[in-house]
Amino acid sequence: MSEPIIIVGGGPVGATLALLLAKQDVAVTVLEARKQGAAYGESRALALSYGSRRILEKLGLWHKLAPHATAINSIHVSQKDSLGRTQLHARDYKQEALGYVLSYGALSAALDEALSNLPAVNFIFEASADAITHTATHASVTFTHHGALQSLGSALVVLADGGRSLDEIAGLTRETKDYGHDALITKVRAELPHNNIAYERFTANGPIALLPNGEQHVLNEYSLVWTGKKELIAPLLTLNDAEFLAQFHQQFGDRVGQFLSVEKRMSFPLKMSQLQVTDTPHLVVIGNAAQTMHPVAGQGFNVGLRDAESLAQHIASSTDAALGSASMLEAYRTSRKADTKGGLLFTDFLVNIFSNDILGVSGLRSAGLGILDVMKPIKQHLVRKMSFGK
Ligand SMILES: Cc1cc2nc3c(=O)[nH]c(=O)nc-3n(C[C@H](O)[C@H](O)[C@H](O)COP(=O)(O)OP(=O)(O)OC[C@H]3O[C@@H](n4cnc5c(N)ncnc54)[C@H](O)[C@@H]3O)c2cc1C
Repeated sequence: MSEPIIIVGGGPVGATLALLLAKQDVAVTVLEARKQGAAYGESRALALSYGSRRILEKLGLWHKLAPHATAINSIHVSQKDSLGRTQLHARDYKQEALGYVLSYGALSAALDEALSNLPAVNFIFEASADAITHTATHASVTFTHHGALQSLGSALVVLADGGRSLDEIAGLTRETKDYGHDALITKVRAELPHNNIAYERFTANGPIALLPNGEQHVLNEYSLVWTGKKELIAPLLTLNDAEFLAQFHQQFGDRVGQFLSVEKRMSFPLKMSQLQVTDTPHLVVIGNAAQTMHPVAGQGFNVGLRDAESLAQHIASSTDAALGSASMLEAYRTSRKADTKGGLLFTDFLVNIFSNDILGVSGLRSAGLGILDVMKPIKQHLVRKMSFGK
């Protein structure tokens, strides 16, 4: 291949793609806006599916990440003010775990380290892409590096910027549904150990996820994702710690005892967004830049990793002449359609069905959870979907 493939955005998805390609001796240039190491302290908890662990294993990264990851062996799903509940256990599906909780920072550090010694990879930090253009033969990226404007071209440019920056690209439009909800994220300590159980609690205001996240021997730490209408989440940021923990306990109940402490709280807006591609020869979009979903079922990041895995396979099996061609990109997009759509619909369905107060719906939900609890094939389908996608 003549010019290296260009990846815009060296977050977890872009960096994973770079590593997958470098392992196949495909040359890549990664343009990453942040400084090297800037993401390592990011404590945001990513919910990794069992299938994502397998991708990281193939890359030889898992043994380094395992000490920082907390296994989810069971998922407990309940609804506030109702008796309906269901539980999923890894052992029932002959899996070592249903998933893992891993910090964004630990994953970024492991990926950067793995990429740093590979001759096929040119990872340029503090390189912020300003524009991407494409023609029938190639695509070009204009970027700013240490104050200087530069430009690079390639038969294939991959946009993996997390949907954070480059919106104005010919041929791309974004369909966005704003939930009017925010997610508050933080870490809490509780009286009781997590026992590797993740809790998903549906309330009339929105779902709450309490994930086991105690590295090494700290067994009573949890990552909290508390979602709800903006006007209900915003005041939670300003409460003092004791008031916050009391309100949370009131929503969550007694399953892990009293809550003892809380770390810094932050919130971000929730939306479902999907890219509509009309015609973008030599440019492909992956990860959060291609689809953003509600964090209710921890799907988004895992769908992004599967984007990277599938695209790496399409690139490896492409001839030089076909790289970035309309037919190659269409084949890639077709391969990802069912998984992406499934993830978007599944999370949107969960948010809608579990997060409204319409009379009667609450009873149905509760009955639904009760039925789910005894319906083995449905639970099996759910676990496969959460672990491996489509
Ligand atoms: C505030 C927040 C909290 C979240 N919390 C959770 C959570 O609790 N659990 C969970 O499972 N998921 C969470 N998510 C979602 C999760 O972070 C994403 O699914 C995941 O990060 C997607 O990875 P990505 O590589 O596609 O994008 P990102 O992680 O966004 O990475 C994009 C990368 O591109 C770089 N970049 C951006 N613009 C440019 C540019 N113009 N030029 C060069 N580089 C650029 C950025 O610096 C970044 O490194 C959260 C997302 C956000 C925004």
